[in-house]
Amino acid sequence: MSSVTARFKRGGVHPYEGKELSAASELVTVEVPKRLQVPVTQHLGKPSKVVVEKGQDVQVGQILAEADGPISAPVHSPVSGKVLKIGDAEIVGAYRAPVIDIMNDGKFTGEEAFKGTPVVNWDEKGDFLGRIRSAGVVGLGGAAFPTAVKLRPPPNVKIDHLLINGCECEPYLTADDILMRERAAEVVAGCAIMAGILGVDRVRIGVEVNKPRAIEALSTAISQQVYTATFKGAIPSFDIVTVPLRTMYPQGAEKQLIEAITGRQVPSGQLPFSVGCVVQNVGTALAVFDAVARKRPLFERVVTLTGGAITNPGNYLARIGTPVSALVAAAGGTTEALAAQVAGGPMMGKSLRNHDVPVVKGMSGLLFLTAAEAAAAEETDCIRCGRCVNACPMGLAPCEITAQADFLKWEKSISLGALDCVECGSCQYVCPANRFLVARVRLTKFYSRRLPK
Ligand code: SF4
Ligand code: SF4
Repeated sequence: MSSVTARFKRGGVHPYEGKELSAASELVTVEVPKRLQVPVTQHLGKPSKVVVEKGQDVQVGQILAEADGPISAPVHSPVSGKVLKIGDAEIVGAYRAPVIDIMNDGKFTGEEAFKGTPVVNWDEKGDFLGRIRSAGVVGLGGAAFPTAVKLRPPPNVKIDHLLINGCECEPYLTADDILMRERAAEVVAGCAIMAGILGVDRVRIGVEVNKPRAIEALSTAISQQVYTATFKGAIPSFDIVTVPLRTMYPQGAEKQLIEAITGRQVPSGQLPFSVGCVVQNVGTALAVFDAVARKRPLFERVVTLTGGAITNPGNYLARIGTPVSALVAAAGGTTEALAAQVAGGPMMGKSLRNHDVPVVKGMSGLLFLTAAEAAAAEETDCIRCGRCVNACPMGLAPCEITAQADFLKWEKSISLGALDCVECGSCQYVCPANRFLVARVRLTKFYSRRLPK
């Protein structure tokens, strides 16, 4: 493994990995609480439309809010019970949004329908995309873009590679790692399903070398064809390979993953389609398998709880809508050393204000950090050292972009490439002046949407 050098070519950083805190523990299922709050919209795209009413009885997997338009996704009930109310509540990101409050009756009525023997009948391939859309599958790496949309490239575009992101390059997080280790065959079957939908025969699963057990599990599933156990009908042939990649952040970002595996560079402002690639996450591959082989909607996910200030770091399987407080309790609670809380990873995560917010489809991790881990420091003036330029994987000059933003010169900031920023945080990580560079780029993007066209 040590000889592996495949990686993206420009910039990047290698922060403290912190994976050992949570990687070794077994997957823990969080007890389903009496009351859940399911956010109506949990994807990137047009908000979903509520289709239930206050007082209505619901079953596990029943649609609570349906997709509204082509770039949208439905949400489903994670429990059976009664809709208590529909209203606004705080969600991650410290803002309020519509949620559906459900009282869990503890019976899990309707769940049996998704527990039968999984079957991937390739003679029904024409239905696969519809099942993925109906199941509300979105990108589980954090972006939460509707998966069915990514699997339907424009008709004039030729896709020849499906790339699967198993890098989990964010420090501390191990939710993808445990899925690759424990459910490798289903992950690979999900990859095969997506390859079949796209009509590609080349699938590459990129995994950083700091996850040797995941690489081994996937490689074994592939070489022994374990993943075909659920296949029936006219099975297409696929060339699926696990590609070990150097541990380097942000290896799992779409453009960086494409470059590391295929050598292709996605031009500025373009999507992976433009270089013949579609990128999906390993957790998404598993959700795709569940949607196609079990017709099971996406109503639960694995969340890593970790950091020096949580009693039992590990990976926790929780229903969507479960309050973070229930996960924290399952992990033994936080310790007195708690200094900062983050939803997501330390590089791209968002501040977690309280434990009442619910688990959502895009929630990959929750960090509970000590003062030493959080390492918060005062922002000072830029000393023009250029470290941020060297670290930027997109070839940008973050110091210049953000200097323009400081003077509210949004157009100038955009002309320097602000819209190409993938908000990876590498620049901020290396900045000796502790400049809040990503926040300034985000502000530029916010104002760019308001500038006259
Ligand atoms: S400018 Fe954007 S893409 Fe470049 S390092 Fe900073 S956050 Fe990442
Ligand atoms: S790393 Fe920080 S101090 Fe150095 S040039 Fe960039 S913004 Fe300025």
